[in-house]
Amino acid sequence: MFSNAKFMSSAARPGDFPEDAGVEIAFAGRSNCGKSSAINAITGRRSLARTSRTPGRTQLINFFELGPGRRLVDLPGYGYAKVSEEKRLYWRELIGAYFSGRKSLAAVVLIMDVRHPLKDLDWQMLEHADDLPVHVLLSKADKLSRTEGTRTLAAVRSELSPDASVQLFSAVSGFGVEDARARVATLLHPASG
Ligand code: GDP
Repeated sequence: MFSNAKFMSSAARPGDFPEDAGVEIAFAGRSNCGKSSAINAITGRRSLARTSRTPGRTQLINFFELGPGRRLVDLPGYGYAKVSEEKRLYWRELIGAYFSGRKSLAAVVLIMDVRHPLKDLDWQMLEHADDLPVHVLLSKADKLSRTEGTRTLAAVRSELSPDASVQLFSAVSGFGVEDARARVATLLHPASG
């Protein structure tokens, strides 16, 4: 399913969102958390989402089609210090509009650098996700030893709602990529979808 992923459209305003039908999963995280790399690793498409550009530049919501009525949504990264107040407000409005009443939004994948998890803005994103299923990727796990990674995993898990799932992930080593793929595939096919 993921290998056929293709870019659909970018949205700068709610009027640009594709039709609200089918099922989509949104990927969210701080700028530079490794979100683009995670999307590329999960889809197995090396340059589907653009990586390593200037942090905080992308203010668009990008939609990718995985198959008929199945989408992956790349939300703009948040928390980049050098972004103007104007852009921050614009981001907040666009994200607010996206989360309010998007019927096809079935789940959120929240990506956090394993070395800097659960910052204030991550909690705000979790509030946006509200009642939706959340899957957390603790990214760049290759940057920590196995012991440190396992300890962080347990600490993050204990802070989140028991409904959320959490895993270690590395786009560089490939650790956790299969698990993430399986989880996303399940989230894309809810019982009623
Ligand atoms: P985004 O801004 O959240 O989309 O993040 P990117 O995917 O562009 O990655 C930001 C930076 O982190 C880049 O320099 C990537 O090479 C690096 N990065 C991403 N994933 C990993 C990973 O799994 N391990 C390591 N060591 N670096 C990573």
